[in-house]
Amino acid sequence: MLFGTGGTIASRLDYRTGAVIPAFSPGELYGSVPELANLCNLRTEKLYGVFSENMGPEQYIKLAQRIGEEIANGVDGIVVGHGTDTMHHTAAILTFMVQNPPVPIVMVGSQRSSDRPSSDAALNLINAVKAAAEGDIAEVVVCMFGPTSDEYCLLHRGTRVRKMHSSYRSTFRTISDVPLAMVSPTQITPLRTDYRRRRKDHNVTINTAFEEKVTILYYYPNMLPDIVDAMVEKGYRGIVIAGTGLGHVNKPLYPALERAAKAGVHIYMTVQTLWGYVQMYVYETGREIMGLGVVPAANMLPEVAYMKLCWALGQTDDPEEVKRIMLTPVSDETTLREPYNGYLIYQGAIPEVQEFIRSIRR
Ligand code: ASP
Repeated sequence: MLFGTGGTIASRLDYRTGAVIPAFSPGELYGSVPELANLCNLRTEKLYGVFSENMGPEQYIKLAQRIGEEIANGVDGIVVGHGTDTMHHTAAILTFMVQNPPVPIVMVGSQRSSDRPSSDAALNLINAVKAAAEGDIAEVVVCMFGPTSDEYCLLHRGTRVRKMHSSYRSTFRTISDVPLAMVSPTQITPLRTDYRRRRKDHNVTINTAFEEKVTILYYYPNMLPDIVDAMVEKGYRGIVIAGTGLGHVNKPLYPALERAAKAGVHIYMTVQTLWGYVQMYVYETGREIMGLGVVPAANMLPEVAYMKLCWALGQTDDPEEVKRIMLTPVSDETTLREPYNGYLIYQGAIPEVQEFIRSIRR
């Protein structure tokens, strides 16, 4: 089942205005990429036709519900065509809303529209359909162009993936971990073994809870405390801080954070370095911030923590329960350690990495 939500993968260039407009329905895409017919019996459904900055709770919930229905009906795999800009946000929330699926749920997009010679649309789509139809990884994953060459895509776990370049086709990276697999039109090569396997049953847990009054506070030096007070005043129930380094904000913010926490706002700390862990025991300041009621969120990416907090606060307001939900991993949104090769290997675009990958494939 291919669900379309929009984005460049469903677009072509409008040569009059130069704008990229949503034009190809998933059905038309299927027609223009005949290789798909050899992979599976494809059905398509256009849920939305939006660029991905316009995705939000309404779309996430409908998507999760439709995925649940298709799984209950016995579908063998699901592909979600999506704009790349916020694909990692949707991948994260789908991971929380659609738990323990028996089949792969593969998100796919393209950085260049399909009417351009350098388009990645067809390759990404073929590989995503292959991963969904034939793959063994029954999780929410992102399937996008691998490093530099047109040879394969990488499958990234939905909670560890992030768009990292505004225009390169190989824009997605698995952060603080290694991707799940390489996919080419002819084969799927797992890069690790700790994934959930495809099952024959049709069981899945759908939980579409979502609280909108949650925000990410991207800290910058000299952030003024009134911004935190304003959030409390406006009724925000959750704040994910993307702090500096190991998880810091400036001193003037402390009283405001304490006021927010006392007012019942749930506050979690992540790092704006993206790679690595919040570590609030290293410096006195970190310990002080925790004392204000700010909870460290390990190595959860800021956007993932944001989505998880929206989902958690949609279910409960009890601080201990929210904390339990936040700190109990559903699918590696926090991990115990970063693998030594998680930073660059498999994903870079430098010759040594390419050579390494080739040697593994031989
Ligand atoms: N702006 C587009 C979107 O995210 C970009 C893309 O699809 O790659 O919808």
